[in-house]
Amino acid sequence: MLHHGANVLAQAANTNHTGKNILNRDGKLIITFYGVRGSIPSPGPATARYGGNTSCVYIELAGGNSLILDSGTGIRALGKRLAQTHETINILLSHGHWDHVQGYPFFEPIYQPERRIRVFTSTQGEHGQLCSLFNQIDGANFPVSADQLPSQSECITEDPAIVLGEENIIVRRARINHPGGGYAYRIEEDGTSCVYVTDNELDPPHKVTTRYEQWVEFCRGVDVLIHDAQYLESDMPTKHGWGHSLVSQVRQLAVDAEAASLVMFHHDPDRSDAEIDFIQQENDAFFRGRRAPSLSVCAAEGMRIQLTPQSGKATRIDIN
Ligand SMILES: [Zn+2]
Ligand SMILES: [Zn+2]
Repeated sequence: MLHHGANVLAQAANTNHTGKNILNRDGKLIITFYGVRGSIPSPGPATARYGGNTSCVYIELAGGNSLILDSGTGIRALGKRLAQTHETINILLSHGHWDHVQGYPFFEPIYQPERRIRVFTSTQGEHGQLCSLFNQIDGANFPVSADQLPSQSECITEDPAIVLGEENIIVRRARINHPGGGYAYRIEEDGTSCVYVTDNELDPPHKVTTRYEQWVEFCRGVDVLIHDAQYLESDMPTKHGWGHSLVSQVRQLAVDAEAASLVMFHHDPDRSDAEIDFIQQENDAFFRGRRAPSLSVCAAEGMRIQLTPQSGKATRIDIN
């Protein structure tokens, strides 16, 4: 029996069902980026290459389970893919801001009667993030009400480390430095690992929830470090305290935590493809000659990272 928070929208029909996807992934952990933008969708010719959809990352574990990180507008395209499967859908929500929840009403599996969906969220923070995915589907802000949805959905406020741990999915979380609060996640499987830290200010002007040294430990030795890198020094000081990190701070974190690879994420909506290319060039120059990270990319929609465990050696990381 699963443990979950009190606000259950609809009980899962069969709690014994593990929902494992039976796809054979050849022992690989696969990360696919469906939305990489922060704040607001930013489509258009200037952002076409990196993409304009907001935060959504899909993780397929080698064991057959999968996790969705956030439900920004990128989740719409993921929903079309998942609609063809029967897997239980697990969504780990970082927090309830628009750019992390807005795609959910257009996520096709919520309209499938037999679909089981679990949303891991929190009650932390002044805005009451609980079930923020469902709250927007209220018949007024969206033409459908959440209670009309045929899928078997539930919000879980318990620590996913406990709930998913019972299913041998290893997840840890840490509190982000962000207005209203929220969580970062670390996922591990068979020696491979990934950290997802979005909407996090590494050096906030006030009220530090998680200190820099704690972030270094949380990200220590990870194969893939995905981190919010929304701002440049030129955005400051106006945006100091808005809950996002500088590109330069994220570079340093990757070095200090000895991450094997770094993915800069949550691009500013005003950052053009050409500007992100420039950040990439600067990253390449900064990391040249350093032991870690050995790979660094700016996240782009459609990008896929495959982690393959190697016996006695570091994980093989393929990015395409
Ligand atoms: Zn955001
Ligand atoms: Zn936010």
